[in-house]
Amino acid sequence: MGKLSAQEFQAYLKQIRELTEGTFDKMQKEIEDTNVFPEEFYQLGIKNNLYRCSLPTEYGGWGLSELDILKVQEEFSRGPGGMRMHLHYAMDLNWRPLYDFGSEELKAELMPGFQDRSVFTCWAVTEETGGTGADIKTLAVKDGDDYIINGEKYLISHTDCCNYAYVTLLTDPNADKDHRLSTFMVPCNTPGYEVTPMPHMMGCRGSGHTGLKFTNMRVNKKYLLGKEGDGLHISIHSLSVSRVHIAASNLGMAQRMLEISLQRAHDRVTFGKPIIERQAIRMKIADMAAHIHALRTMVYDFAKDYEKDPNGEYIEEKAAMCKLFSIQVTKVCGDEMLEIFGGVGYFEDCEYGPTERLYRDSRAMWLEEGTPTVQRITISRQTIKHGGRLEYLD
Ligand SMILES: Cc1cc2nc3c(=O)[nH]c(=O)nc-3n(C[C@H](O)[C@H](O)[C@H](O)COP(=O)(O)OP(=O)(O)OC[C@H]3O[C@@H](n4cnc5c(N)ncnc54)[C@H](O)[C@@H]3O)c2cc1C
Repeated sequence: MGKLSAQEFQAYLKQIRELTEGTFDKMQKEIEDTNVFPEEFYQLGIKNNLYRCSLPTEYGGWGLSELDILKVQEEFSRGPGGMRMHLHYAMDLNWRPLYDFGSEELKAELMPGFQDRSVFTCWAVTEETGGTGADIKTLAVKDGDDYIINGEKYLISHTDCCNYAYVTLLTDPNADKDHRLSTFMVPCNTPGYEVTPMPHMMGCRGSGHTGLKFTNMRVNKKYLLGKEGDGLHISIHSLSVSRVHIAASNLGMAQRMLEISLQRAHDRVTFGKPIIERQAIRMKIADMAAHIHALRTMVYDFAKDYEKDPNGEYIEEKAAMCKLFSIQVTKVCGDEMLEIFGGVGYFEDCEYGPTERLYRDSRAMWLEEGTPTVQRITISRQTIKHGGRLEYLD
C-alpha cells in the first residue's frame, strides 16, 4: 500500500481514536489486574495497521511523513498507557535501529516481519549496577565470527512479546567513552538468553517489564548494528526520534485530559451554576490549553526539521526539549484535570473518562527514554554549543 490521500489519512486518525477510546479502554479494565495483553489486542493492532503504518514503503509500510506518524501516535495515546507504550514502541524504536544501522543482509531478512509483528523487538540498555551510557557493564568478547555476551539488564519493556532484543553493551572498555559500546540485535531464542521477573508497575499495565540475563550467550557478528564502537551513537540517534514520540504521547494524554475536563465543567453545577462559568475554573482551562498548544507547536516543528534532515544540527536538542516540556504539560493538565473533577476524578470508572488511570499512566513518561535531568543535560550541552540560539527551518 502506498501513501494515503489527505482524506484517507483523516479517516484513519478517526478510526484509531474510536478504537482507542472504545475497544481499548474497555479491554484495559481486565488488563489492570492481569498485567498481560490478550492476543486480541495484538490482532487489533495488526488489523488496524498500527504495526505497519510507520514503516518505509519498501518494507510494507505506508511511508507516512514523520508529522503524520506523530499524529497517529497522539490519537492512540489518548487510551490506556500500557497499550500506548507498546504501540509507541512499535511505530518507531521497534524497527528504526535495524533500518538505520543494520546490514543490508539483516534488513532483507528481518525488516519485512515488522509489518505483521512476526518480528518484534525490545530495547535493552538500562542496568541495575550502573548508569546508562558509558557506565554500562554488560560485556561482549569477540570469539571468531561470534561474540560471547555476559551481563544483566532491568526495567526492560516488551520482553514478553518480542523475538529479538536490541542490546547495548560494552565491546571495548578501554576505548574512549564515545566508542566503548556496541549494539546487537539478539534473537531471543539464543541459548544463554533469560528473562527475569519484575514487580507490576504503578500504571501502563500490560506492557510487560522484566529483567534480562545473558550467560555466555553466543551471537554471530551479523547481528551487530553499525560497527563495533557505534553503540552510543546508535542509542543517541535512535532515542532522539523516540523522545519526540514520548512528547506526542503526552500531547494525546493532555488533550484528552482537557477535553474530559471541559465536559465535566459544563455538567457540574454548584451554587446554581455550572462550574465552567467560574473564573477560577476558566483559568485552569486556559493553562491547560496554552500548554497543549505550545507542545503541539514544538512537536510539529521537530517533525518538519526531521523530514528535512534526520541528522540535522538541532535534532537532538529539539527532541530533548520536546520530551522535557511534554512532561510539564501532562503534569499541569493532570493536576488541573483532577481539581476540575473534584472527588469523582480520584475514582476508577469515572463516567467522563479514565481520570485516575490517565494520572497514573502519565508518570511513566518521566522515565521512558531518560529522566528530565538527562534531557536537561542533553539540552544544556547543545545549547552551549549553539550559543543559545535554535534555528527554525522554513
Ligand atoms: C515504564 C518504564 C519503561 C522502561 N523501559 C525501558 C526499556 O524498554 N529499555 C531500557 O533500557 N530501559 C527502560 N526503562 C528504564 C528507564 O530508561 C530508566 O528508568 C531511566 O532512564 C532512569 O534510569 P534509572 O532508573 O537507572 O535511574 P537512575 O540512573 O538510578 O537515576 C535516579 C535519579 O538520579 C539521577 N541521575 C542519575 N545519574 C545522574 C547523573 N550522572 N547526573 C545527575 N543526575 C543523575 C536521575 O536523573 C534520576 O533522577 C524503563 C523505565 C520505565 C519506568
